[in-house]
Amino acid sequence: MKQENRITKYVWQYSEKLPEETMEALRGIALDYSRVKNEVYKRYAGIKNMNRLTPYYDVMKEMRRSGLRERLGLPVSYFEVAVTDAVTDIKITWGVTKNKIREVITANENLSDSDKMYLRTVLKINSTYAAILNRQNYPMPENCKGIEIDTHRLNNLLCRYTRKYLTKPHTEYTGYFSLKNDGYLYKEAKTLRIPSRIPKKKLCIPLKDDMVTSRQPTIYVREHDIAISITIDKKVKRHEDYTNTVYIHIGNKDMFTLSNGHIYGQNLWNITAPETERLSHKSNERQKMYLAYAHSMEEGNIKKAEAIMENNLGKVKYNRIKEREKGKTTTFINAEINRMLREEKPSQIVITKPVTKNRSNYHMRATNRKVTRSFQGYVRKRLAQKCAEQSITIREINAKGTGSTCSICGAEGERLPEGFVCMACKSQLSIALNSAKNIERLANEI
Ligand SMILES: [Zn+2]
Repeated sequence: MKQENRITKYVWQYSEKLPEETMEALRGIALDYSRVKNEVYKRYAGIKNMNRLTPYYDVMKEMRRSGLRERLGLPVSYFEVAVTDAVTDIKITWGVTKNKIREVITANENLSDSDKMYLRTVLKINSTYAAILNRQNYPMPENCKGIEIDTHRLNNLLCRYTRKYLTKPHTEYTGYFSLKNDGYLYKEAKTLRIPSRIPKKKLCIPLKDDMVTSRQPTIYVREHDIAISITIDKKVKRHEDYTNTVYIHIGNKDMFTLSNGHIYGQNLWNITAPETERLSHKSNERQKMYLAYAHSMEEGNIKKAEAIMENNLGKVKYNRIKEREKGKTTTFINAEINRMLREEKPSQIVITKPVTKNRSNYHMRATNRKVTRSFQGYVRKRLAQKCAEQSITIREINAKGTGSTCSICGAEGERLPEGFVCMACKSQLSIALNSAKNIERLANEI
C-alpha cells in the first residue's frame, strides 16, 4: 500500500476591509482575551502551581468558576482557548527555568557529582519537583536511593534557584486572539463566522480567499482588517526523476552556489542591502519584545506575526514600506529556490549547519548582522519547507574547514576580496564555489 505522507503548513489568510463596527468588536475580543491570559498568568504562574498545569483541567474548572468570563461577557470559545493558551505560555516559562537551573547546577563547584545527579533527576520528575517546591513528602527516585547526599540542603537550593529564575509571564499585547474551531467557522465560502458577544449572533468576516482549516485559527486584529494564521495539512509530493545529490553553499551575496558551479539567487545581497541599511537606523528593542511575545504565543510564522504586531502599534507607514521591500525579497528567494529544485532535480541536498556564532561577519555592525542572519534564516527555513513538501532529503554537515581549506589540494588558503586563493596549488576560485566544493568533498568523505 502506498503510504500517503502529509505535512503541516502554516499559512496566512486575510479578510477584506472591515467596517469600523466589526473592527471595534474584534478589538474588544482581543483585549478581553489578553485580560483572561493575564489573569491565568497571575493565578498559576507561581512556584506552587507547577504540578497543576498538566493536565490543566483543574485550572480550567477554577477559571470557569471564577466569574471572570461572565464579567467580561466573553463567549466560551474565546475564553477557554485563552486559558489553554496562557497555560501553554506558563509551561514554556517552566521549561526555560528548568534549563537555566540545569546550567547553574552544572556550573556550581560546591556540588558533588551525587548532588548534581540528584538535582538533575528530580528536575526530570515533575511530581517530585513539585513536592519539593511545596515542601511535601515524596518518594526518593530509584537511582538516588542509598547515595550520600544532604537532601534538605539540596532541596532548599532547588527552591532558591526556582524562585530566582522563574519569571511570571505578562502580556501587554492586545492585538490577537484564538478560538476553538467547532467546524462552523468556515461553513460559508470565503467567510469566517465567529461568535459575537450577543448569543447566537455571529460576526461575519468576508475573506480574500477560500482556504479553510479544521484547526484553531489565530486572528490578528489590524487597523482595518484581520490576518489569520491557519494550519493546513498538505500532501507530500514525490518526483521520480529527482535523483541527484546537490551540494550548496548558502551565501550572503549570492543565495546558493552549487559545487557544480551553478548559482541561484544571484546578487541577493543587492536586494537585501538597502533594507539592511534602513533597518540599521531603527531600534531593535521593540522588535525583540514582540518577537518574544510571538514566540510564546504560537510557533507558526513568527516573523509575520511580529510584523503584524508592529502594524498595530502605529508604525504603519514604516512597516508598509518594509513589508513591500520584504515582499520583493521573499518573492525572489522563493522563486529562486523553486528554480533550483526544478533544474537540479535533487533527491538529496547537502548544506552546512547554520553558524550561530556568526564569526565570519564580525566586521559588520550588529544590526546589519541581525538582518543578514534573518534572511539567511529565512532562506534555510524556506528550503527546508519546500524540500519537506517534495520528499527531498536535506543533510547538514559541520561547516568547519569549508571556508578556509582549498577544495582542490586541501591546503589552507586565503580569503581575499577577489576570491579564494591557494598558495600551494595556485588555484583561485570564488569563496562561495570553493566552499560548495568543500561541502561536496566532506560529505563524501564520511
Ligand atoms: Zn590548493
